[in-house]
Amino acid sequence: MKTAVITGVLGQDGAYLAKLLLDKGYKVYGAHRRSATLANWRLRRLGIENDVNMVALELLEYSNIHRVIDKIKPDELYNLAAQSFVGVSFEQPLYTADVGGMAVTRILEALRLLSPETKFYQASTSEMFGQIQEPVQSESTPFHPRSPYGVAKLYAHWITVNYREAYGMHTSSGILFNHESPLRGRDFVTRKITSCFAEIAHGSEQVLEVGNVDAERDWGFAGDYVNGMWAMLQQESGDDYVLATGVKASVRHFIEIAGAAVGFTLEWSGTGPDTIGRDAKTGRTLVRVNPAFFRPAEVDVLIGDATKARTVLGWRNTVDASALAEMMVKADYDAIARGELLQ
Ligand code: NDP
Ligand code: GDP
Repeated sequence: MKTAVITGVLGQDGAYLAKLLLDKGYKVYGAHRRSATLANWRLRRLGIENDVNMVALELLEYSNIHRVIDKIKPDELYNLAAQSFVGVSFEQPLYTADVGGMAVTRILEALRLLSPETKFYQASTSEMFGQIQEPVQSESTPFHPRSPYGVAKLYAHWITVNYREAYGMHTSSGILFNHESPLRGRDFVTRKITSCFAEIAHGSEQVLEVGNVDAERDWGFAGDYVNGMWAMLQQESGDDYVLATGVKASVRHFIEIAGAAVGFTLEWSGTGPDTIGRDAKTGRTLVRVNPAFFRPAEVDVLIGDATKARTVLGWRNTVDASALAEMMVKADYDAIARGELLQ
């Protein structure tokens, strides 16, 4: 039986990856930062909360990482933990750098000293491309991050490459474009939209307040992306891979599709901060732009080229942005119908 440690197991990707590895017969250690109450709702949602061996692991604390790696010496370690929200990274740049950047060196050092055969996956991100240097971004596109989050992740990416080159360790950097699901955190724009529209469809009086509706992203389904993470660690040696759908969609488009799935026909008026989205049938205001959600530096558009992952890993994405919006709003709508509080 193979063993794997997943840091950030309580997050979106951690839950899907834990399920995938359990289905493949792995012994899964789910590393999470200690808190008074274990927020394991995503693991519960996937029915695996009793199958993951939970391990308290604080990535700011080297001694903690050292002890956990020394004890488990896993076959594979997937580092998914991070302060992963770009917006918050402008408010908490040092913390974001520590957990998203420096912590990766802590893990790699512990692996180098204690378990150099462990295969390592680093959760890198399309945010490293930021102000894009090529219209479609691949593994060879130069980086230009636009947030403390992107900068921290860029350090983490290069230290992952460096441990591969310097010590011959099996380290891989998955440069993943945005991937979403019903388990996505509610701060992120996709889930913010779908959870809010589901609540409105069930009678809530609220208005969806968003920032830049013209931002464009390459949105895929998280369930597809964890297959790619696993596949990277099954190769002869570590490498860098982009995972993306290759198709972009705007926040505005995502709003329209999610709205339509619960019976609203979005009609837009105004521009920039004066943009309003109304339901064409009732005239009710459903969406308002609030400049508080604008970012000090924005990433306008991202589109990824996943040719390498398709060719080398045989990776495929199965859900486009429209299907994703429909899946997510339906999941939120059904959860409320069952009497659940959205998380
Ligand atoms: P989430 O924010 O859902 O999960 C991240 C997890 O990291 C959370 O469970 C969080 O714990 C944990 N964490 C935060 N700080 C610490 C710490 N100091 N010590 C230990 N654990 C910590 O992110 P996703 O699942 O969406 O993403 C997984 C990874 O992939 C992240 O690194 C993200 O930056 C990266 N990524 C994600 C993309 C996406 O579109 N989803 C795109 C590209 C990269 P807690 O639950 O306690 O907050
Ligand atoms: P990111 O790509 O990792 O930053 O993922 P997000 O889901 O946080 O943001 C995606 C894009 O949506 C960014 O360009 C944001 O500026 C834009 N956006 C517009 N309105 C909002 C909002 O209300 N919340 C968030 N999180 N993003 C928003």
